[in-house]
Amino acid sequence: MQHRIIVLGAGYAGAVAAGRLAKRLHREDVAITLVNAEPDFVERVRLHQVAVGQELRPRPFTEMFAGTGVELKVARVTAVDVDRKTVTVTAPAQGPVGAAAPAASKATGGERAEVVELAYDTLVYALGSDWNDQGVPGAAEHAHHIAGRAGALRLRDRLARLGAGESVVVVGGGLTGLEAVTEIAEARPDLSVALAARGDLGDWLSPKGRDHLRKVVDRLGITVHEGAAVTRVEADRLTTADGGSVPAAVTVWTTGFAVHPIARATTLEVTEAGQIVVDGTMRSVSHPDVYAAGDAAMAMGPGDKPLRMCCATGGPMAWQAADAIAARLTGGKIPTVPLRYFNQCISLGRKDGLIQYVTADDRSVRSALTGRLAATYKELVCKGAAWSVGKPTLGLPTRRHRTVAAQPRAGVPAETTA
Ligand SMILES: Cc1cc2nc3c(=O)[nH]c(=O)nc-3n(C[C@H](O)[C@H](O)[C@H](O)COP(=O)(O)OP(=O)(O)OC[C@H]3O[C@@H](n4cnc5c(N)ncnc54)[C@H](O)[C@@H]3O)c2cc1C
Repeated sequence: MQHRIIVLGAGYAGAVAAGRLAKRLHREDVAITLVNAEPDFVERVRLHQVAVGQELRPRPFTEMFAGTGVELKVARVTAVDVDRKTVTVTAPAQGPVGAAAPAASKATGGERAEVVELAYDTLVYALGSDWNDQGVPGAAEHAHHIAGRAGALRLRDRLARLGAGESVVVVGGGLTGLEAVTEIAEARPDLSVALAARGDLGDWLSPKGRDHLRKVVDRLGITVHEGAAVTRVEADRLTTADGGSVPAAVTVWTTGFAVHPIARATTLEVTEAGQIVVDGTMRSVSHPDVYAAGDAAMAMGPGDKPLRMCCATGGPMAWQAADAIAARLTGGKIPTVPLRYFNQCISLGRKDGLIQYVTADDRSVRSALTGRLAATYKELVCKGAAWSVGKPTLGLPTRRHRTVAAQPRAGVPAETTA
């Protein structure tokens, strides 16, 4: 009997985990299924570029996983039952138009969809995250976001319809907000572009990083509202905590990410925010058959601080999860993948950037790389992240091991940690 591994989500974490498992385990012993809502890989770290009209290279999963043995299922996950070890998905119905509908099929938006239950022995949960309106009144109705491709495309259409002089306000002074506001201001110098930040501009950066950021926003003509906590969003304006009003024909909301509610609806141990609590091997602390990686997981990093949602750590979390699963199935030694930060790479439009070097636990140090060189560095990082999704054993020899169940000798080797 093959051991059934289901990976949910084919983002930076899930796609890497699936590919790496396929390289680590013998095809006869395991069946690896990768479930994703869309048929192609979305480079989330470039969605601010999509929002201003740039085209990204298509990356179909059928090409990325060709010949790997990973079975791709394009379907939307609607529920997980970690006690029965099943996943419920909704997939476009198979079969010719006009064919009799299967018992568990239903019509959605004019198309037939099938509800399918998949059983697993090991689950890797990597459904990522979405935007987080933080319950601010009016945000859900009026604000745009770039946390997913659909949102970025909606914003692209809206920006394209704006006339010269109209106002765009990006809410959130973190990494995503800085990338979005500079990208929009650079691409549309005819618009009135502003940033609303709760604190001071780039207040976590080194003095060199802050100075450079200030120069770039001045050069791009971006108005910065500092100490501006937004309390209400309307169709044409924002209200701040001090009662101020900021005109905004378009509001772009970038104040952090929220995880999908699927894990919270299970008996898995999750944080208040709904992330699955995992140990150092990315294994659920409550359900040993479940692993989680990327934005959907809460893992501790250096300094006993939770890792933040970013692909800089999502990839290594996926390596760790895949290597731990493979080691446990084959009776091998569990390797330890270092989970730490090196830098924060911020694009400031296409021609400028800021690489802020940080400590292992993500605190800024004095040195920072700025300007065109930093933009090139950031571009290489984005390219490398997408490339590594298709090269999941980067830097490691490919060795496919037989699972313990398939090994001829009786007896399970003791589990050890490197
Ligand atoms: C504009 C922007 C810029 C960013 N820049 C950076 C950066 O410079 N550096 C950095 O480190 N991080 C950056 N991030 C954060 C980074 O993109 C995320 O942390 C990263 O994508 C998380 O990877 P993941 O695999 O956990 O989730 P995702 O990449 O979100 O992948 C999740 C996958 O699951 C699928 N999925 C979701 N729900 C379902 C469902 N119900 N059924 C089936 N499939 C589903 C999605 O389609 C997707 O393919 C940025 C994010 C944004 C939005």
